[in-house]
Amino acid sequence: MKLIFLGPPGAGKGTIADLAVEKLGLPHISTGDLFRAAVKNGTPLGLKVKDIMASGGLVPDELTIELVKERLSQKDVAKGWILDGFPRTIPQAEALEKIAAVDSVVNFEVADEIVVGRLSGRRVCKSCGKIYHVKNMPPKKDGVCDVDGGALYTRDDDKAEAIQVRLDTYRKSTEPLIDWYGKKGKLLTIDGVGAPAEVLGRFEKAIKK
Ligand code: AMP
Repeated sequence: MKLIFLGPPGAGKGTIADLAVEKLGLPHISTGDLFRAAVKNGTPLGLKVKDIMASGGLVPDELTIELVKERLSQKDVAKGWILDGFPRTIPQAEALEKIAAVDSVVNFEVADEIVVGRLSGRRVCKSCGKIYHVKNMPPKKDGVCDVDGGALYTRDDDKAEAIQVRLDTYRKSTEPLIDWYGKKGKLLTIDGVGAPAEVLGRFEKAIKK
């Protein structure tokens, strides 16, 4: 199964994808995670995208499409995947059409106020990338990952100024994809508000229909 997760930043795409990976055995491909790894490792790509990401803007389409092409050509993803955070523009969606046939696009609907609360409280493990939230999904020990004891940090783009830029960018560049995929009959819209297990249940129901 080849799925795209669509929705504003903070819609819970990464959290639900991580849970769905355990249930469906599909690899979770997050372009945000791939870019963050490049930044952390100081690769040429990482150096190019570091400042763009910190500001909340979008990495240019050519670089992003190249990254996804490369990742989707690897063996471990031959049978299917969940693409989280890609495509984010119409040109990216057009490029993806030439690389792979997508089965469904799952659109997570969440209001702006909720998104802002989720992003500003999000914390991420520096070593394994597991996502927490200071109120909704706290770790057992403050600031420490339950899985591997790594330090939790706030992403640069989860700071207030960048959150606004990301929401504006989402409305302008990414939201048009809802219509685009709707017209192709691929769109499944689910309510993204609630506990992760609840949203996961809605997702499972939607893809079984
Ligand atoms: P995410 O973790 O999906 O919120 O992505 C974090 C950041 O990575 C975004 O704010 C962008 O700067 C960059 N990024 C991730 N995916 C894309 C994409 N498909 N197109 C352009 N930039 C992206």
